[in-house]
Amino acid sequence: MGSAILFADLKISGPLLRAVGDLGYVEPTPIQLEAIPVLLAGRDLIGQAQTGTGKTAAFALPLLMRVEADLGVPQVLVLAPTRELALQVGGAFQDYAKYLDALHVLTIYGGQAYGPQLRGLRQGAQIVVGTPGRLIDHLERGALRLDALRTLVLDEGDEMLRMGFIEDVEKILAAAPPNCQKALFSATMPAPIREIAWRHLHDPVEIRIASKTATVETISQYYILLKEEQKPEALLRLLEMEEQPAALIFTRTKAATVEVAEHLRKAGFLSAALNGDMSQELRESAITRLRSGELNIVVATDVAARGLDVERIGLVINYDIPLDVEPYVHRIGRTGRAGRSGKAFLFVTPGERRYLKIIERVTGQRIEETRVPQSSDLERKRTERFRARLEQLMAQKDLSFYRATCERLTEETGLLPEELAPALLYMAQGTRPLRVPKGVFDRAPVPPPARPRRKVHPPQMQKTQVNRKKAHGFKGQERKKAPSHGRSSRPERGK
Ligand code: AMP
Repeated sequence: MGSAILFADLKISGPLLRAVGDLGYVEPTPIQLEAIPVLLAGRDLIGQAQTGTGKTAAFALPLLMRVEADLGVPQVLVLAPTRELALQVGGAFQDYAKYLDALHVLTIYGGQAYGPQLRGLRQGAQIVVGTPGRLIDHLERGALRLDALRTLVLDEGDEMLRMGFIEDVEKILAAAPPNCQKALFSATMPAPIREIAWRHLHDPVEIRIASKTATVETISQYYILLKEEQKPEALLRLLEMEEQPAALIFTRTKAATVEVAEHLRKAGFLSAALNGDMSQELRESAITRLRSGELNIVVATDVAARGLDVERIGLVINYDIPLDVEPYVHRIGRTGRAGRSGKAFLFVTPGERRYLKIIERVTGQRIEETRVPQSSDLERKRTERFRARLEQLMAQKDLSFYRATCERLTEETGLLPEELAPALLYMAQGTRPLRVPKGVFDRAPVPPPARPRRKVHPPQMQKTQVNRKKAHGFKGQERKKAPSHGRSSRPERGK
C-alpha cells in the first residue's frame, strides 16, 4: 500500500482514529484514500471495488462522522445482499464506533424475529444495516422511517442483481429523501447497476479500484479435488511438474508447515517452514534464503506470510483451502509479483467444495479444475529433463575416455551399443527413476453421484462451520467415505 498518507490526514476524527488503531490499521487502503474525502464532502459515489479492498471502512468511517448522535433516527442506511454481509458490515460499524457515545448500529435481516429489530428501531438506532426484503417490511409497517436519512449505501450491487433483489433495492432508493447522499459499491458494473446509478445518484464521483483481487487476473488458478491423505504425494508431483524457481505453500496450521516442509526436504526439495512460532529472526532468515535461491520452497501459514514479497515465487499451492476469501486472494497474490505471471493451485477435499464456490463467486473469477499429474506425465517430464542434462553434458564434457570404455565394453560383452544404452540409462537415472509405477492418480476420475440441489442462501464464509483442527494428509487421521473424484463434477452456481 506504500502510501505515506495516514487516516488522520483524511480528517478522520479522534475517536475513529483510536478505533482503527485498535484494529491494527496503519495506512488507508486505496479505496479508503479515494472514497473517504468524497463521502465526507457529502458527494454521491460509485465505487467499483471488491471485498477485501477495505471498502467497508471506506464508507463507514466518513459516514460515522456525519451522524448526529443526539438525533435518535436512522441517518445511515446500508443495503447488503446477504445476512452474512449485513452482519459483517454492522459489526464493522460497531467496531469503528466503539469510542463514539450514544451511537447505535442495528442489523436487520430476514429469518430473524421482528421483536428485537422493532425494539432497535424504536430505541433510536442511527445506523441501520440490512437486507432489502426485511427493510421493506419495516418500511411498509412504518417502523423504519427514512425522512432523516443522510446517506444510503448500496453494498455489493452486482450481488443484489444476481440474487434478484434489484426491485426491492429500487423501492428503497425511491423511498429515500431526494437530497440524501447515495453511495453504490459493486465489484462489477453490469448494465442494470449502471442504470440504477444513473437514475438515483446525483453527479456521482466514480472510483475504480484495481483491487487486490484484480492482480488475480495475471495468475492462472487451478484446483485439484483429492482426498486429504493424497495431498503429500500430490504436492510432490505438482512441484516436480511445475518447475518454478520458487514456490510458496500454504497450510492451515503451524504444525502442518513443519511437517510439509520436512516431507519436501526428504524428497530432495530445498524447503523450510514459516510460521508464527518461529522467532522474527528465523522467519526473516527463511525469506532471505528464499529470495537468494538458497531455498526454493517455503511452507507458511497465512499470518506468517503476510506481506511476503519475493519475485522468484512463480507458484502458490494452497495445500489446505483457506476458510475465507481474503486469505485466498492474499495467498495467490504472493505470486505474479511485479507484473509477472504466476500459477496457483488449490487442493480441495470433497467436503470443501462449497468454499471453492465461494472463492469463485467473491473474486468473480473461475478456478479451473485440473488433476494431480499422472505417472505418464512424470515419466515424460523426467525424460525431458534427463535429455536436457544429457545434451548439456555432451556439449560441455570431453567424453573420449568414456567412448573408448564403451567400445571396449561392447567388444567384451558382445552387446550392441543400443543394447547397452538402456542398462546405462537405468543406472544413470538417480533418485527420480524415469519409470513411475501407476497408482491412484492414474485412475479415470469418477464423477460424483448427482445430489438433489438444495435451495440455499448464497454462502458467505462462516468460519465457525468448519472444523479448524481437521487433520492434513499426514499422520493417522479419520477419513470420510470414498471420495468423489471428478473432472467436471461441479454444478454451476447461478451466475
Ligand atoms: P472489506 O473490503 O471492507 O471487507 O475489508 C477487508 C478487510 O480489510 C477487513 O478485515 C478489514 O478489517 C481490513 N481493513 C480495512 N481497512 C484496512 C486498513 N486500512 N488497514 C488494514 N486492514 C484494513
